[in-house]
Amino acid sequence: MGKKGHVLMQKYEFGCLLGQGTFAKVYHARDLRTGDDVAIKVIDKERVLKVGLVDQIKREISIMRMVKHPNVLQLYEVLATKTKIYFIIEYAKGGELFNKLANNGRLSENKARKYFQQLISAVDFCHSKGVYHRDLKPENLLLDENGVLKVADFGLSVLVESRHQENMLHTVCGTPAYLAPEVISRHGYDGAKVDIWACGVILFVLLAGYLPFYDLNLMALYNKVSNADYKCPNWVSIETRRLLAKILDPNPHTRISTAKIMGSYWFRKGLNSKSDKMKKEVTTNVALVDSSIEIVGVCEHQSPAIAENHALVKPTYLNAFDIISLSAGLDLTALFANNNEQDGVKFTSTSSASSIISSLEDIARVLEMKIIKNDGGLMKLERLREGRIGALSIDAEIFEFTPSFHLVEIKKSCGDTLEYQKILKEDIRPALKDIVWVWQGEQQ
Ligand code: AMP
Repeated sequence: MGKKGHVLMQKYEFGCLLGQGTFAKVYHARDLRTGDDVAIKVIDKERVLKVGLVDQIKREISIMRMVKHPNVLQLYEVLATKTKIYFIIEYAKGGELFNKLANNGRLSENKARKYFQQLISAVDFCHSKGVYHRDLKPENLLLDENGVLKVADFGLSVLVESRHQENMLHTVCGTPAYLAPEVISRHGYDGAKVDIWACGVILFVLLAGYLPFYDLNLMALYNKVSNADYKCPNWVSIETRRLLAKILDPNPHTRISTAKIMGSYWFRKGLNSKSDKMKKEVTTNVALVDSSIEIVGVCEHQSPAIAENHALVKPTYLNAFDIISLSAGLDLTALFANNNEQDGVKFTSTSSASSIISSLEDIARVLEMKIIKNDGGLMKLERLREGRIGALSIDAEIFEFTPSFHLVEIKKSCGDTLEYQKILKEDIRPALKDIVWVWQGEQQ
């Protein structure tokens, strides 16, 4: 997988390797339907499982789904196979921002400001969604073909909801030279303040061409960071120094906020009406968030005959998050579902939706159950005779991966659990054996 020329699910043709992170390889690829460039981040499921990163991947998907901003790389789609997860991401043709620095390794104040404005706009937007990057560094700052800044890699972000009780993050992560003092001192930290500190370090590097805090000895480096012990080179203007001092404030409580940075005279220089446009764009994107990214990993093309059948059955489509959670070897179901006896059993089937429906109808007949609902991919079966606590009622829901590959979930919606378990084991399962490909979550 990932070899040049290899076509992924008839959709994307792999190109060259762009870069390699700890758990993922990033490739350039072409969307065969549109001819557009994309980047594909390929994650090895086994490696992710070995190091217990399932949670992080799950988090990365849900976070990337929430973030849509002109300066944040967009996640288009997530696909999964038995061994790999593929993130289809907006391609940043211009590569890493820091490769673009001039010979002396730095930028003029105006150019540095231009990138800083975009960086803060992205960071402020993410913070407003409760998303913190926590690992802002040069490798994560990419450019598109028009030189627009794109922030990459939200793999280490943490949502507000998953913060510790005292509203502080405790995981030590990030790159030492960009780490805020409170992260190093391990006293718990506020993700927003940590990102602002990293933006300060990035601004310094853009202007100076070298890091503000550097020492080969890690303890000495930590000391420098903790005391905000840095010196601006003489070509940095007084105004810029003032802003840098407010950002690189070792006390997170007094450190400047993104709102104040955006309101500062230095930041607003050169923005004028463009800033209003930028603000407008951001607001529009806030409104679009959540509904904007459809990460549906299903086949979209089907024959007319199959399409006709589907008009009757209309199974629910699965998104990539569902697919990943269901695919063998990386079953995340337990992480977001309560596996008690009320929960359904699931199986995948290579039969068409209509054959699945007719098998379920046969079962209903044999078990003397009436079909009280059969549309939108949901069948409701109810027993004619009353049980101990009312009539047993069973739901069977059909989800479509492709026209010839479905997931079916069967669960009790009403009645006695013991009665349900008995008929599930003795009647339903054996009756379905011809159409079941794999019972999910069960060792084959
Ligand atoms: P990552 O594992 O996300 O840190 O990516 C590793 C490297 O791949 C980055 O430092 C970039 O040079 C490159 N890269 C990642 N994502 C993209 C992208 N969407 N477009 C272009 N290059 C990328």
